[in-house]
Amino acid sequence: MNPTCARRSFLHTSLLAGAALAAPRHLLASTPAAKPSFPVADYHVHLSPQLSIEQAVNLGKERQVQIGILEHPGPGYKIQNDADLQQYIDGLRPYPVRIGLQPVYAGWSKNFSKTILDQLDYVLMDALTLPRPEGGWLAIWQIDTMVDDAEEFMTGYTKFIEQVLTTEPIDVFGWPTFLPVPIARQYKQLWTRHRIDHIIDLVRARKIAIEINEVAHVPDENFIVAAKHAGLKFTFGTDARNQNAAHFYYCYQMAQKCRLTEADMFVPKRK
Ligand SMILES: [Zn+2]
Repeated sequence: MNPTCARRSFLHTSLLAGAALAAPRHLLASTPAAKPSFPVADYHVHLSPQLSIEQAVNLGKERQVQIGILEHPGPGYKIQNDADLQQYIDGLRPYPVRIGLQPVYAGWSKNFSKTILDQLDYVLMDALTLPRPEGGWLAIWQIDTMVDDAEEFMTGYTKFIEQVLTTEPIDVFGWPTFLPVPIARQYKQLWTRHRIDHIIDLVRARKIAIEINEVAHVPDENFIVAAKHAGLKFTFGTDARNQNAAHFYYCYQMAQKCRLTEADMFVPKRK
C-alpha cells in the first residue's frame, strides 16, 4: 500500500482510540484550552486532493495560524531528485508559508544536492519507519504493528531514534515518543526517566526542536516539561491533509499545562 494512504487511513481509524489512550479522563472532561497568546504555527501540513495550497493558506488566515507545508521525499513519493525538489520549493515560494520536507527513510538526503536542501526552511523527521534486520522497513504507526516483547521493542526503537537524532540533517523531531498501538497504554511505564533524558540529551546536542503532535497526542506532559526545563524548543503539528490543518486541541492544552511561552517555540526562518 502507498505509505501516504496507509498513514492517512491509520490516522482516521485511530483518532478516537488515540485520544482515549493518551488523554487522561480529567483532560477529556475539561473545556478546551484557549489559543496561546503567542504566535502559533502548524508546521506539519500536507497538501492533498482535499487541501490545496490556497485552501491551506486560507485556513491559516482564518485560524490565525502560520502554515508550514511538508512533503515526503524518496521512493514511492513525488520528490525523488533535485529537479523534483526544486520544483516543489519554487511552486510554494509565492505563498506565505514555510516550506519543509518530511523524510521517511534514514539516509534520504544522499539523493539531493546540498545547495537545494539549503533552500528549505526546515526538515521534520520522525523515527517511525524502522529498518528491519532482515531488510525492508517496519512502519510502527500502522495499526497492525505487532510487538511481542515491549522491552525488546523499546531497545531497538531507542537505537533507531538515536540514529535519526545523531545522523540525519533535521530541524524538528516529529511524532516524538509515539508508541505502536499494542503497547501504547504502557507509555508511562516504557518511557522511563532514563529513556526520556537520553532523548532530550540527543536533541539538545544538535539543537533539534520537538514536535507536539496533535493527531498522536505525543509527547506527554511529563516529557514536554522535562524538555522545556532542558531548554528545548517546540513546534505544533496537526499532520493534517484536510480541513484539520491549523486546528489544535491537544497542542493548546499542552501549551497551557506546561506553561509554554513564545520563547519556547521554534520558528524556522523563511529563506
Ligand atoms: Zn506528516
